[in-house]
Amino acid sequence: MVVVMHAGASEAQIQGVIQHLNEFGFDVHRSSGVQQTVLGAIGVKPDFDVRHIKLIDGVANVYRITEPYKFASRDWKQDNTIIDVRGVAIGGDEVVVMAGPCSVESEEQMDTAAACVAAQGATFLRGGAFKPRSSPYSFQGLGEDGLRIMRKAADRYSLRVISEVMEVAQIPVVYDHVDIFQIGARNMQNYSLLRQIGKTDKPVFLKRGLSATIQEWLMSAEYIMAQGNQYVILCERGIRTFETSTRNTLDLSAVPVVKSKSHLPVIVDPSHGTGLRDKVIPMARAAVAAGADGLMVEVHPDPNSAKSDGPQSLYFDQFEDMMRQIRMIALAIGRAIHAPQQVPV
Ligand code: PEP
Ligand code: MN
Repeated sequence: MVVVMHAGASEAQIQGVIQHLNEFGFDVHRSSGVQQTVLGAIGVKPDFDVRHIKLIDGVANVYRITEPYKFASRDWKQDNTIIDVRGVAIGGDEVVVMAGPCSVESEEQMDTAAACVAAQGATFLRGGAFKPRSSPYSFQGLGEDGLRIMRKAADRYSLRVISEVMEVAQIPVVYDHVDIFQIGARNMQNYSLLRQIGKTDKPVFLKRGLSATIQEWLMSAEYIMAQGNQYVILCERGIRTFETSTRNTLDLSAVPVVKSKSHLPVIVDPSHGTGLRDKVIPMARAAVAAGADGLMVEVHPDPNSAKSDGPQSLYFDQFEDMMRQIRMIALAIGRAIHAPQQVPV
């Protein structure tokens, strides 16, 4: 249940409502904006009569949240959530681009990739140091060395870092090197990982599970938010369907669907979404047109020798083309993309 207080409600009135809710057995989470205070009453009480609360002084409106998730829902927070990551706003007017190779492989690879993506206006460097590979015999990532390499390259070109954390034990080490934690598709329903990450204070990039419905995805966001971390960014990265022409089926309609159900930013990953580099640019264009708040794209200095996901990684010149094209689309819908940067040589 959500209780919206009148714009001019006094602190005493707000405290009065909180006390009543507590007496009825609800846990209360308070969100005070510039204009209004909204109280989220958590607790399953199907027979509770909302008029008990509606009639209290200072209450403007009370309504039940019909969705099973609360903090992630638009009922709980009407305004879009904008997450500031060291000066870059995710979920605002700017369409944010996160780019880099699938895996961190070497200093040289990361430095070249960082220079390329920064020069085109990306603001985040991506790269996996702990890799969730389908085969236990495939390259598993460089671990902490990989994170150090990535941080150094990112700092050189004023980029922020996003990298995947696969298990609870990795949280402290990943925390020390990244600006955003990535939770991979395979871990979307790893509830103990979600709970622990929810206790940290860094933003979390939550990829949609391989066969997760939008509701299941938002319930996973709720796991993180219920622990206190409200900085969740959702990422549509394609789902399993009967179609075999592409690696996954990129569900672009998820963008407007999530936008209507949730206030959280939504980013699209057309690389894992299609698995084929010639399909990445068209889907990147479509994602921006559909209203995505950003893109996550795999780019590699030499895709043919990539240790993972080479076939879906863009060449540098393709990345440049993509950026040029999506810049025009962003402009057409009243948004922008960070300007190309002069990078150190
Ligand atoms: C990745 O970003 O490299 C990755 C493994 O993504 P996903 O979890 O979407 O498969
Ligand atoms: Mn990958």
